[in-house]
Amino acid sequence: MGKIQVLDPVTVDQIAAGEVIERPASVVKELVENAIDAGASAVVVEIKEGGISYMRIADNGCGISREDVPAAFLRHSTSKIRTVDDLVHIGSLGFRGEALSSIAAVSQVELVTKTADQTFGTRYRIAGGKEEGIEDAGAKDGTTFIIRQLFYNTPARRKFLKTPMTEASHVGDLMTRMALSHPEVSFQFINNGQTKLHTAGNGKLRDVIYHVYGREIASNLLRAEYETSGLKITGFLGKPLISRGNRNFENYYINGRYVKSSIIAKAIEDGYKDFTMQHKYPFVVLHMEINTENIDVNVHPTKMELRFNRQQEVYNAVYAAVDEGLHREELIPQVEVNV
Ligand code: ADP
Ligand code: MG
Repeated sequence: MGKIQVLDPVTVDQIAAGEVIERPASVVKELVENAIDAGASAVVVEIKEGGISYMRIADNGCGISREDVPAAFLRHSTSKIRTVDDLVHIGSLGFRGEALSSIAAVSQVELVTKTADQTFGTRYRIAGGKEEGIEDAGAKDGTTFIIRQLFYNTPARRKFLKTPMTEASHVGDLMTRMALSHPEVSFQFINNGQTKLHTAGNGKLRDVIYHVYGREIASNLLRAEYETSGLKITGFLGKPLISRGNRNFENYYINGRYVKSSIIAKAIEDGYKDFTMQHKYPFVVLHMEINTENIDVNVHPTKMELRFNRQQEVYNAVYAAVDEGLHREELIPQVEVNV
């Protein structure tokens, strides 16, 4: 027999999981994105021990029908696209069909789900990629995932986890971003029994900003509004006086997705250049709607990087949104004084 063998599916899933699932916050990200894709208006996330031993993600979305439950955990199984052509019109946060199989490969999963047209819900258990049972369950419409003992079967991965406190703060940051990117959804985040975040889900971005960042920031905001063909920007610009010492307060979302983009960051900072001192970074929360044909989200498994068709247009639009927003009011530029 030759030396080369095709890996068994469980091993393949464990390896694939490494690309998507790095820590508790990655599990929460994938499951909250699924909840949003399922049309949920409320999502509750509860974690214990930084999520390492316990995470519960509950939504009131469309649920998964009984016959679809086992399939949802197969690798590359998705209800969101059918062919590669659909990638051009991606409106959902997920589409790779990798999250559930990856999570199930490296943890103990319990799922309770019910669709509106089913009388009974379904309870399903899967651990280390192995099905452990499916049964009826009394449940409300929607989906609840309980994830226990992340990386229990991949000690090498588990070793890289930080302290529960650090892991919990990553989950907290993620929940903040989810709340800011989807003001129309109510998010509750409970850490070790304490509610850390609970947004109203009334669709008002300013309310979410107030809730997350407090009064000082929420009362020093200017509105950003800009539209050009295939690209729309809305949101808020912090007045220069609330500029920060780091980039953590530059929030921007594309089609409801948290992304990192050096082009957008540069456009924001260039737009503020005349108003902020050196080494100060603005507070912004921008929502960008870009025609899906002009972006490629399928660059990286975590979908945090994306590619623009027309980079210069994106830069120009963001710069214009910032520039116009800041110039709409008489702001006093903060001039660097050299002594
Ligand atoms: P993707 O989101 O890329 O489609 P996932 O592995 O995250 O892949 O999920 C697989 C499928 O399971 C989804 O396409 C969806 O049909 C279903 N699903 C997952 N989570 C939920 C949820 N919270 N509510 C309803 N359906 C869900
Ligand atoms: Mg998904």
